[in-house]
Amino acid sequence: MTTGRFLPADLRPVPRRPTDTSVYVIEDGLWCLRLPLPYRAPTSVNCYLLALADGFCLIDCGTSLPPGWSALARALELAGVEPGAVRLLLCTHLHADHAGGAATVVEQTGCEFVRAIGPDTIDDVLRDPAIPVETRRRMGLHEGIPGVELDAWVDARLADDVHHDRISPERFLTEGDILATRLGRWRVVPAPGHSPTQVVLFNEPRRWLISADLAYGSPEPFLEYGHTPDPYGEHLAAIDRIRELNASLLLPGHGRAVNDPALRLGEARAAAVARSQRILAALSTQPRSAHALVLELVEGDPDHNRRQSMLSVTLCVLQHLETTGQAVSETGDDGVRRFRR
Ligand SMILES: [Zn+2]
Repeated sequence: MTTGRFLPADLRPVPRRPTDTSVYVIEDGLWCLRLPLPYRAPTSVNCYLLALADGFCLIDCGTSLPPGWSALARALELAGVEPGAVRLLLCTHLHADHAGGAATVVEQTGCEFVRAIGPDTIDDVLRDPAIPVETRRRMGLHEGIPGVELDAWVDARLADDVHHDRISPERFLTEGDILATRLGRWRVVPAPGHSPTQVVLFNEPRRWLISADLAYGSPEPFLEYGHTPDPYGEHLAAIDRIRELNASLLLPGHGRAVNDPALRLGEARAAAVARSQRILAALSTQPRSAHALVLELVEGDPDHNRRQSMLSVTLCVLQHLETTGQAVSETGDDGVRRFRR
């Protein structure tokens, strides 16, 4: 369980109500269920409800934190769908805001649960509670986090958001799997980087893309460090591959639908490249630990979640720079790893 005494004020859940939920009909047979999130940002997550020949499929389900299931139950009610008619829950990836409520949804609806094949992760290795906290503290010291700050960096999450029940899927999705719905067939396309198991869904006849967090509408991408060899490279490759699908409508995991997917995907790619260039530029002067780089990159912003996320992204970029021969790292006598060009 999370040790609440280490929880900085800006990581405490923000109270939200089930009535903060809204539902949009995108097309007959496709709804966007916008569920409130107990975070400062993002404040909501988009789940999608698809009509099947018999019953409904839910794409993502929101967090386990309150209002949790109450918000999703309200959304289903607004869509006019009985919980028992949900046959399938497909999670685009395993981050708490997309999949945290999965165990409850399965319990409440009796549906099947599926997700992509790959590691069972909730967060980067420094914050994933499946990894013992002592191991995470050791990794934190190695990356230059001062001992007195370790708990706030490796053991402070939004209350119990990453401590939800993890459930095993009925089956794993793989590339090219098809989800047959009343609106036609949706193809499963892997899009790792943001999370190693992230997938997007592409409706070929309409060229619509349920894009999960691939092209997150924020200046900063989130990349999950430590589970695969090169999340940054995987993220860029996923954007490039999915741009080639030439989608006409992008239905993201957060925020509004996007009518110019090529532009949004291009912006997401540019944001990731800019981040990498900024880190490379910061390295040119002197060797720096990942932690020191993060403090420079956030420019004094005290927001813990941003700092923690930035550490994961920075480590992914440094790993990529090292793999491609643009940077090297050395561990000093103090046990801290520092990077230079
Ligand atoms: Zn995510």
